[in-house]
Amino acid sequence: MKAQIAFLPGDGIGPEVAREARRILETVALENNHSFDIVEGVIGAAAMDKEGTPLPESTRQLCLHSAAVFLAAVGHPKYDHLPPATRPERGLLELRSLLGNYANLRPVSIAEGIVDASPLRRESVRGVDLLIVRELLGGIYFGKPRGIEAGSAYNTEAYETAEVERIAEMAFKLAKSRRRKVVSVDKANVLESSLFWRDVCTRVAKEHPQVSFENMYVDNCAMQLIAKPQQFDVILTTNMFGDILSDEASMLTGSLGLLPSASIGGKVGLFEPVHGSAPDIAGKGTANPIGAILSVAMLLEHGLGLHREAVKVERAVSRVLVRGVRTQDLRSRARETGRDKVRFVSTREMGELVCDLLRMPDAM
Ligand code: NAD
Repeated sequence: MKAQIAFLPGDGIGPEVAREARRILETVALENNHSFDIVEGVIGAAAMDKEGTPLPESTRQLCLHSAAVFLAAVGHPKYDHLPPATRPERGLLELRSLLGNYANLRPVSIAEGIVDASPLRRESVRGVDLLIVRELLGGIYFGKPRGIEAGSAYNTEAYETAEVERIAEMAFKLAKSRRRKVVSVDKANVLESSLFWRDVCTRVAKEHPQVSFENMYVDNCAMQLIAKPQQFDVILTTNMFGDILSDEASMLTGSLGLLPSASIGGKVGLFEPVHGSAPDIAGKGTANPIGAILSVAMLLEHGLGLHREAVKVERAVSRVLVRGVRTQDLRSRARETGRDKVRFVSTREMGELVCDLLRMPDAM
């Protein structure tokens, strides 16, 4: 396959984890005779330094004319004094709306090698493998009217049938390649918008009898994610509930550095690790590149339709972790649990080890 990939390293640890993500993409291309034209663009503080704006026109055009976009992270403390509308993070928000992706996918799975990294007990998280499918363009974050007046403030949660249908269809489609179970999360006992969401999702569910379906209140879901996270396969939910639940679920793994995400359904898919630019560890070579590498796996799967290659990348990551190889972010828990097999590596070594496995004849 020939494909152009827009590649945006961004700020802080962004360029460090992006280097390893790029190494993976290049290895996958080489081992499978694909031709990926990886074209770098600037975003965030790097773009403000260079072009005075967090999302320059050149980056916009690059992204719109690529098959997929990889972004590492944005944000730099030197711009923290600026108002939100002019900060580096604005570049990411503008990019998201430019690409128009309505579905945000956040998988959370716990490889056997990292069960000890979870703040929860091993038996509580072993085998967790869930996917949060969050609606990204509607709901209370965008609903009108909104505002603050003397003595009051208000926001509006509004959804239309088509908006709920398309995200529900996406969740059922994804469930068919997983364990065929969708739980739709809402607050239908209190909110009319949730009652509507529930009605539409329940109707869509009837068109997918091969997939089991359940509705759950968001407060119960927040509790179940800690009490028994293994029960979940696909969690389908609104913009705000998805925002909150996906951060909660991400902590089941023990480090933000492990988690990928994909935003799809619009013009061009955007693939990014869930972590930020981590200024506290930038430049030290210790950042965990796994979230970025697994975002490449999602890019291969959802951006380029290369399922086999995506699975190989995921498998290589699991195999490296099972061997006890870890970056520093997983250090303290490893000590507490007294595992002697653990070996700590740099960002670069982690990327190289994953690539070594991808190059093995049985891996590709
Ligand atoms: P953060 O995700 O950057 O860091 C939170 C904590 O997790 C830090 O202690 C950091 O060292 C650690 N961490 C994050 N990623 C890691 C990795 N790959 N390996 C090891 N440890 C990792 O969040 P923050 O500190 O709240 O924000 C820092 C900057 O990033 C801010 O400017 C913020 O606006 C921005 N941000 C950007 C994004 C994004 O680009 N998508 C997301 C969140 C925050």
